[in-house]
Amino acid sequence: MRCKLCTKPAVYAPLRFCSEHFLAYYEKKVRHYFESTHVKGVKVLVGVSGGKDSGALADILMRIKDDLGLRLGLFTIDLGIPDYSVKGLEKVRELAEKENVELIVESLKDHDRIIPEFAGPGRKPCGPCGTIKRYLLNKAAIEHGYDYIATGHNLDDEFYFAMHNLLHRNVDQLRRGAKLLPPRPELKLAGRLKPLYYLTEKENRLYCLLRKIPHDADECPFSVDNPQLAFKAGIGSSLSREEKKNVLKSVQLLQQPVEATATGEEAGLLHACPACGYPTTSKDECVYCKLMAGKR
Ligand code: SF4
Ligand SMILES: [Zn+2]
Ligand SMILES: [Zn+2]
Repeated sequence: MRCKLCTKPAVYAPLRFCSEHFLAYYEKKVRHYFESTHVKGVKVLVGVSGGKDSGALADILMRIKDDLGLRLGLFTIDLGIPDYSVKGLEKVRELAEKENVELIVESLKDHDRIIPEFAGPGRKPCGPCGTIKRYLLNKAAIEHGYDYIATGHNLDDEFYFAMHNLLHRNVDQLRRGAKLLPPRPELKLAGRLKPLYYLTEKENRLYCLLRKIPHDADECPFSVDNPQLAFKAGIGSSLSREEKKNVLKSVQLLQQPVEATATGEEAGLLHACPACGYPTTSKDECVYCKLMAGKR
């Protein structure tokens, strides 16, 4: 098969692109994200895990940062998951060296907790793990003076979250899944960016291979039987990227009027946690503080 834009062999069958035209397409999608969100001239802390999505994100942002006036840093957390965290951290350090960018590393061991401690018989630690990752990424952004955090969420992730929230009537969560949330410094909340919003998992994997980006292809041991992976392999893989995009566009239309209130600030839902001062929707201490104190 040949590329549809030149005569070179195609490396990406779904869109029939050679490597050069695939890389140009990839960059165009990320530039489109920034044009559509009007974000430029800001400091962005990129959350990286050592995986393909965040590795691809860090690389493409480094390539376009000067045009957009972005100042970038990388942030990662050592979750203390045997083997997986060690390999992930190794890849993140290689990535930071390749991209020549500042890397902030936070270790849960310094907080006397590790993620496997949150697992129990028939209970995975993924809920607490997600809370802890979101909390520490936001905290690092605030403490180091970044306006936004950026994560490697891709089209397949966003499609899954949208469908999951629709199926479970989680309207608040659906609203918070907006492709951009603005910064709220007065609440100690960094803005949130998802620059890979228009790119699929397959596209991120191919980008990493073509650009030789250091990444660990292994999944976290706790992701076995993860309903998200089963969904992506089932209904997710039977739909085209256009169909998934259409679902997200419909969700965006629902989000638009509420984007400004999606953090819950205007609705009076957010309070400062009495223990740490970061925002929470809980009446008392935030979930992060409760988790770390062993209260949950
Ligand atoms: S699969 Fe692993 S890294 Fe992902 S949320 Fe669960 S414990 Fe955390
Ligand atoms: Zn081509
Ligand atoms: Zn707290």
